[in-house]
Amino acid sequence: MDFTPIEVVPAACDGAASCRVCEGREARLAFVKSGYELYRCAACDFIFVHPFPSDAAIAAYYATAYRGAAPGFYPKSRSRRWRAFIRSLHFFRHVRGRDVLDLGCGGGFMVEAFARLGARAEGIDISRNSIDYARGRFPAQRFYCESLSDFTQRGKKYDFVFSSEVLEHLPGPGEFMRTLAAIVRPGGFVYLSAPDAGHARVPADISTWDDVCPPEHLEFFNARNLALLFARHGFAPYRRYRTKDPAHSVVFRNMG
Ligand SMILES: [Zn+2]
Repeated sequence: MDFTPIEVVPAACDGAASCRVCEGREARLAFVKSGYELYRCAACDFIFVHPFPSDAAIAAYYATAYRGAAPGFYPKSRSRRWRAFIRSLHFFRHVRGRDVLDLGCGGGFMVEAFARLGARAEGIDISRNSIDYARGRFPAQRFYCESLSDFTQRGKKYDFVFSSEVLEHLPGPGEFMRTLAAIVRPGGFVYLSAPDAGHARVPADISTWDDVCPPEHLEFFNARNLALLFARHGFAPYRRYRTKDPAHSVVFRNMG
């Protein structure tokens, strides 16, 4: 496998690396897990795999090792559909009559749930198997299978973007944030769910945390550096849901 880093950030002589959140150069090796080095920024506490695996290595991983590798991999689709419907109700006022995108839509269950609430809902996912499934299962909805950069080129705009369990999989937050800044209308909203490195239930020795599982999860935010990241792209915190599990469940608003 080719592990050439993308978005290359060369390590300085002193072993420090640049932080993708605060852009300081104070990130240093914190621990090693599964052969991957994890760095922590001394300025903002952002934790990330460094160097990030290449796009090719990540693609190879998801094509072979990940649970999404097999076609038709959505067992218990009935209960998935039901859970998606229950979850969608939290967002009723954000989605009814609105243009909605599930960014990282997987099998399309949330897209269908939002559509049932009266949204013009679409989904995008990088996984071909997921999108094949979603298109077959929910033919009334529109699904895209392409990179975020390619998708942004379409010039589409949304009132509400839902993204659950996506950000932590990405090799850096840059493309994700540029996409949000481009596709969320001024005054529009983003819902984000991702592991929360600052949650009270994260083990004191963070290297033992289940969510630290490279190359699947590559970057870890706490509430403060997540808000900083979004602020740098024009978003302000709007609402934070309390969670039992160590996860962010948060809505940001595009203040542009
Ligand atoms: Zn930082």
